[in-house]
Amino acid sequence: MWPRNQVFQKRNRIFRKVQIDYCLTGLLLNGYKITIYTEMYITSNEFDIFLLPFVHIKHTIMAGNITFTMIKPDAVAQGFIGPILTKFNEGGYIVRAMKYTRLSQLQAEAFYAVHQGKPFFEGLVGFMSSGPIVACILEKENAVESFREFIGATDPAKAPEGSIRKLYGSSIQKNAVHGSDCDENAVIESNFFFSRFERF
Ligand code: GDP
Repeated sequence: MWPRNQVFQKRNRIFRKVQIDYCLTGLLLNGYKITIYTEMYITSNEFDIFLLPFVHIKHTIMAGNITFTMIKPDAVAQGFIGPILTKFNEGGYIVRAMKYTRLSQLQAEAFYAVHQGKPFFEGLVGFMSSGPIVACILEKENAVESFREFIGATDPAKAPEGSIRKLYGSSIQKNAVHGSDCDENAVIESNFFFSRFERF
């Protein structure tokens, strides 16, 4: 490999690196970031220009170590965003993406499509689109399973003392937070809310 960041000589020609062009960056599979860039070299005695492409693939977020969560409209309306984010922090979850937004009815239907046809579906869609939510991608080892245990059962009455749903939920529907139920859905749900430029 030619030396970088300096002038160098090869086959009687002097090369000078003049520019690094950042061309493309994005996520390949979830968790892998690809960066393609070129270095432009110009020779001193002739005006030929060399573009050397470099590809850098970096693992950013480990699949299996992320989960998706929402602070639901009931918790947001009662002013629990701060306490719930503090709980995430105390639980060792690192925020990789976060968004304060509101779901339309269509978006809520799409997000909970798996529950279509169930008796609580319409109520759930109405509730989830009734006010703003906070969407987050969280990272921790074994994130999906540990986070579901951390927030407690779907029904806050059955959630353990001190869990988020016990502390901040009020009914099986208004249970304060969402947590992905498997790694595959964590990826699907994360992609539903966040572009590759919104996660870190
Ligand atoms: P989760 O994974 O614990 O959130 O539970 P599910 O995926 O089974 O359900 C999704 C969401 O639908 C829950 O978080 C509740 O808000 C709501 N939900 C689930 N079961 C019921 C139910 O029996 N009645 C009502 N009203 N809502 C429910």
